[in-house]
Amino acid sequence: MILPKVIEIRRRALDLLCRQHAAKDRISDDPIEIPHRYKDPREIEIAGFIAAVLAYGRVDLFKACVDQVLALAKDGLYAYLKDFDAARERPRFQGIYYRFNTTQDLFDLMCLMSGVVKKYQTIGTLFQNGYEAHDPDIGPTLSRFVAALRELLGTKPSRGFSYLLPSPASGSACKRLNLFLRWMIRPEDGVDFGFWKEIPPAKLIIPLDTHIIRISQYLQLTSRKTPDWKMAQEITAALRQCDPMDPLRYDFSLCHLGISGACPLKASPETCRICVLQQICFPGQAFL
Ligand code: SF4
Repeated sequence: MILPKVIEIRRRALDLLCRQHAAKDRISDDPIEIPHRYKDPREIEIAGFIAAVLAYGRVDLFKACVDQVLALAKDGLYAYLKDFDAARERPRFQGIYYRFNTTQDLFDLMCLMSGVVKKYQTIGTLFQNGYEAHDPDIGPTLSRFVAALRELLGTKPSRGFSYLLPSPASGSACKRLNLFLRWMIRPEDGVDFGFWKEIPPAKLIIPLDTHIIRISQYLQLTSRKTPDWKMAQEITAALRQCDPMDPLRYDFSLCHLGISGACPLKASPETCRICVLQQICFPGQAFL
């Protein structure tokens, strides 16, 4: 049981971090830079989905792969997928691959995006079709969404392709899909887009990347050791105490505290002394 006074101190520190942090200035260092290149919300969704699911490993490397895939749609991403002809397009994917994902995986990903466009018009329509207001968080909707995508794919996914589409139903933290959902569902604030208004931001679950895990442990937002869906739920629940309607409001700033190096892997008195989270942070007592 956390005392209301402790929650208030934590909330103030996190709010200060968000105010201090010019989030828009850091978009270029974040995968969300990719969907921000587009104007049409349907294309923002698709580019965002592709960028998010491939957002593993080094930023410059996965961005290069996403750029190659998106460059195939020279005359507009939405029109390209609406008119996607698998036999015609397959040879154009030659030479495009990224780490765990083969050329076939990336081709299948675009076939899947085309299937969504042809059957549902938008990713948002498909996702929101599966939303049930009584679900405690976004997990069950995300599981239904992933199941619908796998069904639409129509073939048994390769191991690499399965890596792109994990499901909360299997306990995975689903970091990259939760990142995509934050982009689509959180209110428009110059970073996130706020397109899917049917779904309350309070239902989102934090994208559990290495920076969020480490800093959340320093801030004692979680006592769990395994980076799974349950840990993501626990950290989100702690943030929900600070902002019940929009707990992921803190995600971008916390994550970029790590990405920018302002909170280095090895905490030092010099970096901690100027950090606005110092009062609520206990790096020496992290549970790792
Ligand atoms: S106080 Fe130090 S360890 Fe804690 S978040 Fe800030 S820089 Fe990182």
